[in-house]
Amino acid sequence: MTTGTVLVRDIAENGSGVAVPVDATLKEMVRKMSGNGKGVVIVLEGKKAVGILTERDVVRLLYAGSSPEETADHIARKPIVSVDGERTIGHALNLLVENGIRRLVVVDDSGNFLGIVTHKDLLRHLEDDYYRSTLKVKHIFDGLKNLVSVKPADPITEVLRTMVEHRISAVPILERGKPIGIITEKDILRMADEGVPLREEVSRHMSGDVVSAGLETGVIEVVRTMNSMNIGRVVVTDPDGLAIGMITNRDIARNIEGDYNDFLERKFRQTKEFLNMLPEMMLEVINMGDAQTILWTNDAVASRFGREVVGKPVYELIPKKRWDEIISTLVRQKKVDNVRFKKDDRIYECSGFYMPLDRVSDVGRAQLMIRDITEEVILATTDPLTGAYNRRFMSEFLARETDRSIRTNKEFALILADLDHFKRVNDTYGHPAGDIVLKAVVEAMTTCTRQYDLVGRYGGEEFLIILPEIDKEKAAEIAERIRKRIESREIEIAGGKRLSVTASFGVAHFGVDGRIAEDLLVKVDERLYRAKREGRNRVVSPG
Ligand code: GH3
Ligand code: MG
Ligand code: MG
Repeated sequence: MTTGTVLVRDIAENGSGVAVPVDATLKEMVRKMSGNGKGVVIVLEGKKAVGILTERDVVRLLYAGSSPEETADHIARKPIVSVDGERTIGHALNLLVENGIRRLVVVDDSGNFLGIVTHKDLLRHLEDDYYRSTLKVKHIFDGLKNLVSVKPADPITEVLRTMVEHRISAVPILERGKPIGIITEKDILRMADEGVPLREEVSRHMSGDVVSAGLETGVIEVVRTMNSMNIGRVVVTDPDGLAIGMITNRDIARNIEGDYNDFLERKFRQTKEFLNMLPEMMLEVINMGDAQTILWTNDAVASRFGREVVGKPVYELIPKKRWDEIISTLVRQKKVDNVRFKKDDRIYECSGFYMPLDRVSDVGRAQLMIRDITEEVILATTDPLTGAYNRRFMSEFLARETDRSIRTNKEFALILADLDHFKRVNDTYGHPAGDIVLKAVVEAMTTCTRQYDLVGRYGGEEFLIILPEIDKEKAAEIAERIRKRIESREIEIAGGKRLSVTASFGVAHFGVDGRIAEDLLVKVDERLYRAKREGRNRVVSPG
């Protein structure tokens, strides 16, 4: 049946069949309603829907003795729940169920009336196996509700009274407990249109095609019957054929929604208390297809980002670009593992699961865990003494940068630096003094390089710098600038003593010296050692 995302406008009934102007009379509206078979008319003022009159309203008005000449403006103008035609039918179903209504007015993006959509329209477009898997009539039949019925000899007024008092849209006619007919709002409408006297017996006017279903009947069968016979309800019978209740389209729609929501809610509530104790940040998100909102967070999220994130779009917490990536993975694969994002200078990792609430749209719920991995990342990628990147990170970055440069046809450069006679610094001033020097050298390198250059500690007193998107001349210039800065700098060590050091540099350039990381490393090392051989405190660059 339906796959992918079905939009409300795709299944909406054409508006012209249900639209009436604000000055239409009750009589005209009843005529239109019985003619269109939709059980509803929509009152339009210009292109905007301003009112609605349903079969139920007609029953109520007839019972209250309203005049057929009253106009729509007086009796049908009321707030309307509408849905943008571009939303998914899962979203529409949600709206119906949450607002306890049977129809939605479909509008375009300027709010102009397009048509209407009913439970039945929506149910028709949901996939069969959505119900088939487990749902039987007994699962959605609320046995506590008393069955309201009338007898064949009762007058039509009795049916009207029953419908109004119990707020129901159909009444079965029972003979010795067994259903022999049904009167629906539609039948009442027809009678009103034909001018049938309300004191006549129901048996003369009831519709005979009452359909019953046993408790073990599959809901899918019921839906099929309803669709093929164009009816909105069935009578539920016990094994002896006695009527014990009724189920409607609406019960089914509510149940599909309720089933999954209840299940998740129950499951989640049990764990919420536990989740609040976790240091990890947990949140629950509802996906309405084109928007995702934070439904719930644990205390860890609240204490870091504030309680007010609840009810807000997720991208107020997770940067939009990353979130778009996460939600599309969630919808496709039902889970997401360790996606990193940055926020306020911290690094986070997001993992979680997705539970679809609808088979034909992306509507669903996600449970996410967010961990602050800033310390972990720093620990794993940097050198604790100097704060420069560590050797492992530099090697990985170099491999990535090589790939990227090949792909994008860009160039980059490497600078390898080694302190001159550093052993002597340690020997003369002690190891702690040597440490201070190393930190000062990294600082010099960082200030002399550009924002996107990476400074890494490659060995004890050996440093590698990766300079993306740079030509070889500019790279040589930067190396020279660092050299000068180190040479000229007086480093203060313990006891107010000052000392200065020098360093030797090799420069290699992607493209000039090869396009493979290993080749570049060999080249840059060769040049560094030539700088040492040729007297130290100098830069050797590609010719
Ligand atoms: P050259 O100019 O030839 O590079 O001479 P050098 O003395 O710098 O050469 P060598 O590689 O022989 O010595 C490096 C020294 O760096 C040895 C080691 O004690 C020192 N070193 C390495 N890591 C650290 C560190 O973390 N702290 C300190 N204080 N010294 C370190
Ligand atoms: Mg050295
Ligand atoms: Mg060395």
